[in-house]
Amino acid sequence: MVLFKPSPEISSLWTHTAETGPRFASLAGDHQYDVAIIGGGYTGLSTARYLARKGLSPVVLEGNHIGWGASGRNGGVVSGKFRLAFADIAQSWGIDTARRMHDIGLEAIEHVGELVEAYDIKGADFRESGSLRCAHNEISLQALRKEVDWLKGALGDHSVSILAPAEMVEETGSKGFVGGLLNTHGGIIHPLNFVRGLASGIDRIGVTIFQQSPATAIRKVRDGLVVETPGGSIRAKQAVIATNAYSDLTPATANVKRTLIPFRSAIIATEPLTGTPGEGLLATGRSYTETRRMMRWFRKSGDRLLFGGRGAFGRNDSPSAFAALERAMVLQFPELAMVKVTHRWSGLVGMTLDSIPHVGRLDERVIYAMGYNGTGVAMSTLMGKYLAEIVTGGEPDIGLLRTEHLKKVPFYVIREPAVRLVAGWYQFLDAIGR
Ligand SMILES: Cc1cc2nc3c(=O)[nH]c(=O)nc-3n(C[C@H](O)[C@H](O)[C@H](O)COP(=O)(O)OP(=O)(O)OC[C@H]3O[C@@H](n4cnc5c(N)ncnc54)[C@H](O)[C@@H]3O)c2cc1C
Repeated sequence: MVLFKPSPEISSLWTHTAETGPRFASLAGDHQYDVAIIGGGYTGLSTARYLARKGLSPVVLEGNHIGWGASGRNGGVVSGKFRLAFADIAQSWGIDTARRMHDIGLEAIEHVGELVEAYDIKGADFRESGSLRCAHNEISLQALRKEVDWLKGALGDHSVSILAPAEMVEETGSKGFVGGLLNTHGGIIHPLNFVRGLASGIDRIGVTIFQQSPATAIRKVRDGLVVETPGGSIRAKQAVIATNAYSDLTPATANVKRTLIPFRSAIIATEPLTGTPGEGLLATGRSYTETRRMMRWFRKSGDRLLFGGRGAFGRNDSPSAFAALERAMVLQFPELAMVKVTHRWSGLVGMTLDSIPHVGRLDERVIYAMGYNGTGVAMSTLMGKYLAEIVTGGEPDIGLLRTEHLKKVPFYVIREPAVRLVAGWYQFLDAIGR
């Protein structure tokens, strides 16, 4: 029986430009640690860091290699945003909750900077260049104006402002935007170097990491639990599930898998733009998102342009999905019509029913954090800090992220066609300008 699905190779710009990652052995034999962490992405590695700082002995089990999941293949946009607007959070849960969530967002961005500094991760090339939301029509711009007014008035957040069409041309090089919302917080990072740097950093402080060591089962025993892998087992007092959108790789994380909707997100990268008609695009080096429902985003890395989005992509990569992304890129930036796309890759984003990440306990021994809804670079890394508090009996105030009971996705077996159907509908609404 194949317990762990083979890992498809990814051909991302990040794997081509990353520094060599640290090497870790796979688990052999039976060992004992305080906490077994399943998943070697930002969530798992960051949790291990904070547990070690609390004097516990954590071990990280990664089924593939460090950063193989979303942490090594994402767009590298560092943001403190949630999919729910803070004004909507205030309306449903009150202003104090909205303020706390806003603070968590800012803390998440700062925390990325702290880790980069603590472990001297130069290759992460973390730039706090801010983010720009680019309005594709007047209706979207109105919504952005309302959001800025609310953030300033209700939360006293003056890091946001509205840009005029001429400023948008200066910022992006495109005449396709009627205005935008500039947020001076956040920025961009090399995601694979960041996750590898994090692994090297915690390795240096004595955390044990095993690669190619998938947890295939979690068995409860009298004084804790045993996590099984093909090469051996870990006996621990507690386990942390940090597998996010990749929770369906083995039955060990089946409970978490049923609470998430995996959504494929794809990215393309151009050849270097120096000397091409696209040379002047995205001159301000921020992260840029557009306001369509099926949101597209873009950024520079060196002098290449990255263009990404979610859509009706299906379970696996397909040439037609990448071709659609390429067409969308050229529509937005006609200067790129003759420029070569050199890298194409994708990964799974973990969406939740309520659009909020979830952090909590499955039972007295198993803790989880997941469902970052596509904005997890900063948030998942910060959640490691709070997970470590929960493991050690703390009750940190993480606003709406703290979850008492995980809700299973209804009609789980048809989730993928359903997601594609909704994505197709959103694309249709975008296409007709609604
Ligand atoms: C294409 C793409 C673009 C994105 N762009 C952005 C962006 O620009 N900005 C942003 O903020 N967020 C973005 N995200 C989301 C962000 O990358 C994730 O939220 C974040 O990386 C989640 O980290 P994680 O550690 O929780 O999970 P992951 O990094 O996915 O790690 C989970 C790990 O668990 C391992 N695993 C699974 N099962 C087992 C098992 N049984 N035993 C052992 N190991 C196991 C997997 O191999 C995997 O490495 C993007 C995601 C994708 C896919």
